[in-house]
Amino acid sequence: MTIEREVLPTDILIVGAGPAGLAVAYKLAKLVAADESLEMPEILLMEKGSHVGAHSLSGAVMDPRGIAELIPDFIDKGAPLESPVTGDAMYYLGQEATLKFPFMPSAVNNHGNYIVSLNKFTAWLGEQVEAAGIDIFAGLAGYDLIVSDGKVTGVQTVDMGLDKEGDQRSNFEPGSIIEAKVTVLCEGVHGSLTRHACEKIPELTAAKLPQVYLTGVKEVWEVPEGRIKAGQVYHTIGWPQPSSEYGGGWIYAMTDTMVSVGYAVGLNSPDPTNDPHMKFQRYKMQPLVRKILDGGAMLHYGAKTMPDNGYFSMPRLYHDGLLLCGDSAGMLNPQKLKGIHLAIKSGIMAAETIVECLKKDDFSADALRGYEERFEKSWAREELYKTRNFHAGFKGGLFSGLFHGAMQMVTGGRGLFERRAVKPDHEHMCKLDEYGRHAGREPEKISVKFDNVYTFDKLTDVYKSGTQHEEEQPAHLVITDYDICNNRCTEEYGNPCQHFCPAQVYEMVDDPEREGKTKLQLTPSNCVHCKTCDIADPYQVIRWVVPQGGEGPNYENM
Ligand code: SF4
Repeated sequence: MTIEREVLPTDILIVGAGPAGLAVAYKLAKLVAADESLEMPEILLMEKGSHVGAHSLSGAVMDPRGIAELIPDFIDKGAPLESPVTGDAMYYLGQEATLKFPFMPSAVNNHGNYIVSLNKFTAWLGEQVEAAGIDIFAGLAGYDLIVSDGKVTGVQTVDMGLDKEGDQRSNFEPGSIIEAKVTVLCEGVHGSLTRHACEKIPELTAAKLPQVYLTGVKEVWEVPEGRIKAGQVYHTIGWPQPSSEYGGGWIYAMTDTMVSVGYAVGLNSPDPTNDPHMKFQRYKMQPLVRKILDGGAMLHYGAKTMPDNGYFSMPRLYHDGLLLCGDSAGMLNPQKLKGIHLAIKSGIMAAETIVECLKKDDFSADALRGYEERFEKSWAREELYKTRNFHAGFKGGLFSGLFHGAMQMVTGGRGLFERRAVKPDHEHMCKLDEYGRHAGREPEKISVKFDNVYTFDKLTDVYKSGTQHEEEQPAHLVITDYDICNNRCTEEYGNPCQHFCPAQVYEMVDDPEREGKTKLQLTPSNCVHCKTCDIADPYQVIRWVVPQGGEGPNYENM
C-alpha cells in the first residue's frame, strides 16, 4: 500500500541536536544575521531525543577550543561547566595492583580543559540556538535518507502509530518527507542515516579505512566528601581488559561529591563473550576505583560507542546536498578520546560553507567541497592528523601500543608505520572453537555477583538510564535472519549479542518448538541507543533503525 506523505520543503536540514548540529545552527544564524546581502534561510533542526541533551553522553572532559570559537563569551553566558580540570593522573591497573605513571605525557594532559555533563552542556547550547532564532524540533526522528539521481534531497521521518507487526493503528501518522537544499548529518556515532548515506553513496567511503569502535559504559556516582577533589581526572589502562585488547577507564570528579566513572572497550575483540558492561562492573571492584566509590550511590547509567580510528577512517565530508559533521564524520581524537571540540569546530566550518552556498544558491558537491577544504586547513585536521596512527599502534596489544604511541609523539604522528590496514571490528571476533587457539586460552567464564551496592546487573543499570520505548511498535532492532541467530550463531559464536549489548536487549530463551534448543528473544524497550550490536554482530544480521521519535535514553548529568 502506498502511503501519502506530507512534503515539507526547507532550505537547510540539520539532523541531530548534539554539539555538531547545534554549532551548525548557531553559527549559521549569526553569519546570516551579520550579512546584509542574505535573508535568513529556513533551517530545520531535528532531534530524535525527547529534548535537547536527552541522548547526549560523554566521559566528559571538554577541550574548550571549539566552544570558545563558537561563543567566545561562553563562560559569561552561563555554559554549565562542572569544574575546570584541577589535577590529572594516569594509572596502570592490575586486579589489585595500582601503578601511577610518574608524569602525564603532554599530548594527553588536560590542562585548561573542563569536566562537563554533556547532556547539560548540550541543553544549554540548545538554548543559545533558540535565542538566535532557530527552532529545534525534538522528538522527530529521521528514518531514511532520500537520495535521488545521486543527490541527497532530504529525509523521511519515522512513521508513528504502527503496531509490532508494522500494521497501522488508529493513531497512525505517516512520516513526512523533509526536502532540503542541503542535509547536514550530525547524528553522533554510527547514525542510521549516515549509514544509509555511506551505503547509497559509495564515494563517501571509497579509499578510506573502515571505522573501528569502542563501547564506553558509564555511571555517575554521588560519593562521600573527602574521596576526591572537584576537577580531578584519572585515566587508567589495564585491568580488566587483557593486555592483548584495547580499552581503558576513567574517573572524573565533576564536584567534590559527584564522579563520572566509566570504562571503554574495543569492539575489535577476538573474544565472543566480550562484555563491556561486565568489564565495567569488574573495573569498579579494583581498589583504586572502589576506594573512591565506597559508601556512595550510583545515580545514572549510560553507554555509547565511539569512532576510534581517526583521520584515515573519516568519510568524505560532502556530497551533492549533503554534509557530515562531528562523530558522524568520525571526528574523534583517538589518543585523547575527545570529540566535543572537534564536533563544534566541524559545525562552524559547515555553517561557513553553507553561507557561501546560499550566496551562490548552489548546493552541489562542487560548492559543498569548500567544507572539506576548510577542514583540511583547520586546527581540527592538524589534531586528527597527529593522532592518525594511534589506534592502529595497538594492533599488537597494550605494551606495543604504548611503544608505538611514544614513537608517534616524536615523529608528528607517523611512528614506525603509516596508515596500517584495519578490518571492521566484527571480523575480529573468533568462533568459539577458534578462540582458544587464537588467545591461548578459552573465553573467560566470568561471573560477577552483582551486589547492588558497587556492582549492578544490566537491568538495574538500564533503569538508571531513564530509557523508555513504547512496546507497541515494530522492533527497532531489525534481525534480517533469525535462522542464523538461532542455529549457526549459537553453535559457532555462542550468541555474542547476549554479552556485548550493555542493556540486555538480547537473550537466548528455550524454544518451545525445538526441544533442547534456544531462540533469540528481543526486549527493544531496554535499548540505550549505543549501536554496539549493529557494529559487533559477526554475521551483520542486526540492524539498528530509529524507533518512534522522542524515545530512548533520558540522560541526566551524563
Ligand atoms: Fe546498544 Fe544494540 Fe543493545 Fe541497543 S540493542 S543497547 S543499540 S547493543
